[in-house]
Amino acid sequence: MIGELMAQVHDHGGGVRSVQVPIPDNPLGHTLVYVVDTDRGPVLVDTGWDDPDSWDTLAEGLAACGTDVGEIHGVVITHHHPDHHGLSGKVREASGAWIAMHAADSAIVRRTRETRAERWFTYMTVKLEAAGAPEEHIAPLRSARRRELPGFSPALPDREIVPGELLDLPGRRLRAIWTPGHTPGHVCLHLEEEHPARLAGHGRLFSGDHLLPEITPHIGLYEDPDDATVTDPLGDYLDSLERVGRLAPAEVLPAHQHVFTDASARVRELLAHHEERLTDLRSLLAKPLTPWQLAVRMEWNRPWEQIPYGSRNIAVSEAEAHLRRLVKLGHAEAVPGSDPVTYVAT
Ligand SMILES: [Zn+2]
Ligand SMILES: [Zn+2]
Repeated sequence: MIGELMAQVHDHGGGVRSVQVPIPDNPLGHTLVYVVDTDRGPVLVDTGWDDPDSWDTLAEGLAACGTDVGEIHGVVITHHHPDHHGLSGKVREASGAWIAMHAADSAIVRRTRETRAERWFTYMTVKLEAAGAPEEHIAPLRSARRRELPGFSPALPDREIVPGELLDLPGRRLRAIWTPGHTPGHVCLHLEEEHPARLAGHGRLFSGDHLLPEITPHIGLYEDPDDATVTDPLGDYLDSLERVGRLAPAEVLPAHQHVFTDASARVRELLAHHEERLTDLRSLLAKPLTPWQLAVRMEWNRPWEQIPYGSRNIAVSEAEAHLRRLVKLGHAEAVPGSDPVTYVAT
């Protein structure tokens, strides 16, 4: 079994290792859980999906790192998504470790634990109606309303990650960089120590889902039934990208795919990608479109007809995030009196 494990554990040098923790039935394949040595014991950056196989892999990976789940001193979470925060509760149970998260994502965790399924389905129904989704898409949500969501209860964090501050990791310098966009409380973590192979640049950056080598993270609305604020997640994301670009880390340690260098080049690529996408959407809006109609016409990784039901909701959310951005930039506006509301380029 050790031979199999060697492929899942990687030593990045300087007291940092990673364990590939599988995400079941997901094309992303795995979450990279980082194990950072401190004077008080290992600290994890993210924990992986809550699934028995993923848990076993994490435990075996930690053993291959010469430690044990019971030895974990703390858990630092980049954002609340289940492929990052899923196993945090189990790690805490096994070790007594603290769990740290940015307040904005902790608020989502709290809300997820408290929101009744019915409330969520009502919110989604109203939201999709307003986005101009066809009745056949909304109908399943109406009938689902009386059913309960599967038992999903993410662990409540017990520490807050404060942007700009060093985390309390004895013997290490790990600074929290707030990078909202993918989620409102996403953080990157800057290890302000010389690169173990002395690569040029400023330390290393645990980038979560914010900066990935080959894919762009999903940027949708910050879905919150309790919040009427008109947020601009895409604007937040683009600002956050520039922020991590300026850090110029020697190496990026993302939560998926693989580590990479030249963060600034990747940041420039992503900024250009989003600029191009906004330009394309602006031309699509030559005639007024609802967010749903815009989503149907946008370019995705496959034709709209092949996009599964749940992913269509995510696509509409992404279309809405782009509309928010265009409206904020003064490049599009809502057509007065339209219902559902349509948007047109200005
Ligand atoms: Zn995520
Ligand atoms: Zn992820």
